[in-house]
Amino acid sequence: MSDIDFHQQREHLIETELRLLGIRDESVLQAMRVVPREEFVSEDMREFAYRNTPLPIGSGQTISQPLIVAYMTEALELGPQDRVLEIGTGSGYAAAVLSRIAREVYTIERHRELAETARERLTQLGYDNIRVLHADGSQGWPEHAPYNAIIVAAGGPGVPSSLLQQLTIGGRLVMPVGEDQKSQRLIRVIRRGDDEFEYDEMGAVQFVPLIGEAGWQDEVETRSPRVPGKQPQGLPERIRQAAEPIVSPDHPDLGGLMDRIGDAEIVLIGEATHGTSEFYRIRAAITRELIENKGFDFVAIEADWPDAYRIHDFVTHKEREEPHEWEAFSRFPTWMWRNQEVLDFVHWLRDFNLDHPNREVGFYGLDLYSLFTSIHCVLEYLDRVDPKSAEVARVRYGCLTPWESDPARYGQAAITGAYRNCEAEVVQVLKDLLGRRIKTAVRDREALFDAQMNAQLIADAEQYYRIMYYGSDESWNHRDTHMFQTLQSLLEHRGPGSKAVIWEHNSHLGNAAATQFGKHGQINVGQLCRRAFGQNVYIIGQGTDHGTVAAASHWDGPIEIKEVRPAHPDSYERLMHYSELDAFFLPLTRSHDPQLTTALAARRLERAIGVIYRPETERLSHYFDASLSRQFDEWIWFDETSAVRALSTQQVAEHEPPHPFALMDD
Ligand code: SAH
Repeated sequence: MSDIDFHQQREHLIETELRLLGIRDESVLQAMRVVPREEFVSEDMREFAYRNTPLPIGSGQTISQPLIVAYMTEALELGPQDRVLEIGTGSGYAAAVLSRIAREVYTIERHRELAETARERLTQLGYDNIRVLHADGSQGWPEHAPYNAIIVAAGGPGVPSSLLQQLTIGGRLVMPVGEDQKSQRLIRVIRRGDDEFEYDEMGAVQFVPLIGEAGWQDEVETRSPRVPGKQPQGLPERIRQAAEPIVSPDHPDLGGLMDRIGDAEIVLIGEATHGTSEFYRIRAAITRELIENKGFDFVAIEADWPDAYRIHDFVTHKEREEPHEWEAFSRFPTWMWRNQEVLDFVHWLRDFNLDHPNREVGFYGLDLYSLFTSIHCVLEYLDRVDPKSAEVARVRYGCLTPWESDPARYGQAAITGAYRNCEAEVVQVLKDLLGRRIKTAVRDREALFDAQMNAQLIADAEQYYRIMYYGSDESWNHRDTHMFQTLQSLLEHRGPGSKAVIWEHNSHLGNAAATQFGKHGQINVGQLCRRAFGQNVYIIGQGTDHGTVAAASHWDGPIEIKEVRPAHPDSYERLMHYSELDAFFLPLTRSHDPQLTTALAARRLERAIGVIYRPETERLSHYFDASLSRQFDEWIWFDETSAVRALSTQQVAEHEPPHPFALMDD
């Protein structure tokens, strides 16, 4: 994470968030453009510096949300000759922004350590028109009064009159004011005359309290426990009433769930982490039931096409004799699919297909990270069936070969014009392959389909790496659209009325429109499925409170078994935990308790752990805002969970009969 492009992130924040959220004053936007927020937070918070959110800065305080800094600064209507007073220096960030517009800034902080750190930091960064004072600032700094503008960065019970007296005539003051210490309204006061003040309100905000002579008195009060008193009355009890207990994740009683799924042809089963044994096991149990008793035709997972296809061959008894030249599921994070839980299911499916010769239940991957493995597979196919075309395709794909070790750099080089764009080449190979179906009566329809899917993946991945350059929302949308289209191709390939079970992370399967990401324009597989298939889709999410999880500390890092922290007090998970049940199904949309469904539509935090888990920064890294009963049709809960059992290369190699994940290279 050392080479984060802060400059680009800062621009992104300013142009796509602050501007869109209504900040119009160019001098404010320009000031935010030149102040490096990452320098005002600790090392471990730097990667979050350009999220539009407050961040902890020590002493129980926070650096304000960028939008709030911009909004308050804009309301001050600063001019280049102005003298500004700030109460609540905190990190010094807001003072730095103010100092880029006004002539001089005086700022006061009551925590000695924060004041000293901010002073040193501002000096080091070369801000020479800011003075930092360690004191109670609730009564202002009379020695330098009057000020053209005063900004208070902490919430008090009212606007202190001493501050009003330190304003010039025409001066502006902005401050959060509230009856309790936790929520306030932002107030702007303009001094029109000696005793004449004009007030207006600028909306609800949440600041840390202003502690001092003219602020709140007692600091102890601010640390009062927030839970469990804060939970809406009776909600955990209602959950308890509506829940259907799960006795074992391997053999749950699925009667109720199967009734609710009814005739749905697409069942999406999510998970809150990629490393929890119980999630994999109950998902397998539900899937077995869907295959055995509801005639489901295939499973499609959040894995790359060629790797999952290896399993497809294995479960449909088509594994080839010759050795493979590449190892399936060897890309980070290997444990996500190469684990005992998945292997048990794979063996079950292989046996099932053997016992049901007229059914061929498939197993496929929807993801697109296998650019070069897919190229290899397409060329291997063409080498076999049409060596001439293979030569042409090899030349076309050659455009991408210099980037094999780092396809993301290809994207950047192609976008910036440093390297040619390979789009035309990869699309041409795809077109040629798709054309084959029409021209040739192909004996091996399945092998052609596999090659076509790989060629489609290559075309989408090529585009993905270019889009990545523009930011995470765009590439996320492109990836989820690819996964959805792959699902559509599979449904078409398997024929009318075919039924699919999808295994992915909650964040791909829960309807994005019901989360903070949807509000920002992200779409996902769940949302696209809901849009395309309506009530024919049943979406299930899974969550946990605590236990252990398999995850890495950073991208490409080794697998670790980490402790999952008990869920956040403001989360859905905490609500589930308070139900005091160990494990259960909770019907949301097809529930007997519509009031519960409504209550669980109220926005709360929800936890998402991917292949990386960082308990140190859990709130920022792993929680997002969602509306649970709009996201999912059903929720599966395991209060305590354990890490998935990953398989090492060694274990895979020793497996008898030859293992579906193994590199079968003699
Ligand atoms: N502007 C800051 C955010 C500060 S948060 C930034 O950009 O980082 C509010 C700060 O006000 C906290 O650091 C808190 O310690 C401080 N504070 C609270 N009461 C105060 C008072 N009476 N005088 C001075 N500072 C105060």
